[in-house]
Amino acid sequence: MADLRKEIEKRRTFAIISHPDAGKTTLTEKFLLYGGAINLAGSVKGKATARHAVSDWMQIEKDRGISVTSSVLQFEYDGYCINILDTPGHQDFSEDTYRTLMAADSAVMVIDASKGVEAQTRKLFKVCVMRKIPIFTFINKMDREARDTFELLDDIEKELGIATCPINWPIGSGKGFQGVYDREKKCVIAYFDTEKGTKEGTSTEIPIQDEEHLKELIGEDAADKLLGEVELLDGASAEFDLDEVQKGNLTPVCFGSALTNFGVEIFLKHFLNMTTTPLPRKADIGMINPTEHEFSAFVFKIQANMNKAHRDRIAFMRICSGKFDANMEVRHVQGNKVMRLSQPQQIMADERKILNEAYAGDIIGVFDPGIFSIGDTLTTAKPFKFEGIPTFAPEHFARVRQVDTMKRKQFMKGMQQIAQEGAIQIFQEYNMGMEEVIVGVVGVLQFDVLKYRLENEYNVEIRMDNLPYEHIRWIENEDINMDKIVGTSDMKKIQDLKGRPLLLFVNSWSVGMVLERNEGLVLSEFGRE
Ligand code: GDP
Repeated sequence: MADLRKEIEKRRTFAIISHPDAGKTTLTEKFLLYGGAINLAGSVKGKATARHAVSDWMQIEKDRGISVTSSVLQFEYDGYCINILDTPGHQDFSEDTYRTLMAADSAVMVIDASKGVEAQTRKLFKVCVMRKIPIFTFINKMDREARDTFELLDDIEKELGIATCPINWPIGSGKGFQGVYDREKKCVIAYFDTEKGTKEGTSTEIPIQDEEHLKELIGEDAADKLLGEVELLDGASAEFDLDEVQKGNLTPVCFGSALTNFGVEIFLKHFLNMTTTPLPRKADIGMINPTEHEFSAFVFKIQANMNKAHRDRIAFMRICSGKFDANMEVRHVQGNKVMRLSQPQQIMADERKILNEAYAGDIIGVFDPGIFSIGDTLTTAKPFKFEGIPTFAPEHFARVRQVDTMKRKQFMKGMQQIAQEGAIQIFQEYNMGMEEVIVGVVGVLQFDVLKYRLENEYNVEIRMDNLPYEHIRWIENEDINMDKIVGTSDMKKIQDLKGRPLLLFVNSWSVGMVLERNEGLVLSEFGRE
C-alpha cells in the first residue's frame, strides 16, 4: 500500500499544447534529455522520414510525411516519473488531439515569443479550461526578436482570459537575449555559451540589488531597462497563488529558448514543483482516488490499423487508480465482460514496449479486438462508470454517399465503426433518416483517412461533397422543439445517431444571431454523453 502511494505520488501526467512550430517538439526533446530517456534530440517526432520505418501503418502517413498517431512518453527526472502526452497539430489535428487533454492532469502551453497566442493554442486551451486543469506557460524563442514582454502577457490574458504570473522575466531578446531575472530568488541569471542539444550552458547568478555588478554583467542599458520593468511588474502583475494555479485560473509564465536551451531546466523544475500529482476522477459512484487499491482506467483514444495485416486496434487508456498488472483480470464495464488486457504496452516515442506494471497517472495501450469505445471504463472493482468524454466540435463537414448503391450495408458498417473509434462524427438531416450521411471532422485529414479506410478495409468507394459549415452547436435544452427554432439563412438543423438535435452554422456571427432570436436557447461547443 505504501509502495502504491509512493509510485503514484511521484507521477506527473501532462500534455503539451501549442500552435504548430512554436517549439513543442524541441521543448519535449530537451525535457527528455534532462531525464536521460532518449539519447539525443531528434527522436521524439522525426518530422521527415525517421518514424515511418517503425510505424508504416497507413499509406497516408507515408505519402504525406506526417504522423497521424500521437505518442505518450514516459521518463524519470529528479525523482519524478513523468508522462508527457503529445497533442498532434498541423494537418493531423483531430478530435484525438482534444481527447488527449482528457487524460492529462495539467498542460504546458508553449507560445512563440514573436507571435503570441495562435489559433490552435486557443482551441486546445478551451478544453483545458473546461477541465479546470492547471496550465503552465513557456514563452519560447527568446533568442529571436520577441514581442514586448508586457504585451505578450497582455495577449494571453485578453485572448485566453487567464491571469498570468511571470516566474521569471527575460533580459532582452534576439541577439540581445542575455538571460532571465528570477522573481522568487530576486536574482539575475545570465547565460553564456550554451551548447545546442546538451544541458544548460554556464550561467552566472547575481542578486538584482547588486546594481554595479549587474551593469557589468549585462550592460548599462539592459540593466536600466530590467530594473524599470521589474519595478513596474511588481506593482502590476497578479500575486502568485498556487491554489489559483491549480484551479486553472492563473498561469505561471517562464521565458526561454528551447532550441538553445535557455531556461528549460528552470521551467521544468518550477513546473514539476507546482503541478499536480494524478488527480481523482469523477465517476457515477463519486470521485475515484488514484491511491485506491482497485485498478481502474478509462479509454480516451482508439487507434485503428497500426498493423494493416491484422486490422487490429489499440485502445489507449489512462489509469485512474491502483496498479495495473499484466496478468490481472479486469472488467470492461460497458461490455460487461471480465477479461485480461492483452499486449499491454507503452508507446515510447517510436517504439512500443511491453509493460508488466503501471500505476495511476500512467497511460497504456492495449490490443482491442473491436470492443472498446471512447470513454469506456475498466476496473477490478465492483462495476462503475467514469464520467464520459465529451464530443468535440468538428469544424469541417461533408455529405457522404457510396458510389455503388448495392454496397449500402458495408458503407454503413464502415461509417459506424470508424465513428465508434472516434475518428469521425456522423449526423443526418433533421427528420430525414439516413439517406444522406453528414460527416463532421475536427481536422480535414480525417476526410482522407475515411475515404482511404472505406476503400481499403470495407471495399466501398465514396463520394464526398464539402459543406460550407464551420461551426456546430449541441442544444443543451431538453424538450426543445426544433421546428420552433428561428434560424438564419446559413443555419442547418441536423441530428446525431442518437437523435439529439444540433445546429450547423457557416459563421460564428450566425451563432450569436440565433441565440438572440431564440430566448432561453442554450448552445454548447461540447457534446455531453
Ligand atoms: P512544434 O511544431 O511546436 O513541435 O515545433 P518544433 O519544436 O518542431 O519547432 C519548430 C521550429 O522552430 C524548428 O525549426 C525549431 O528548430 C525551431 N525552434 C524551436 N524552438 C526554438 C527556439 O527556442 N529558438 C529558435 N530560434 N528556434 C526554435
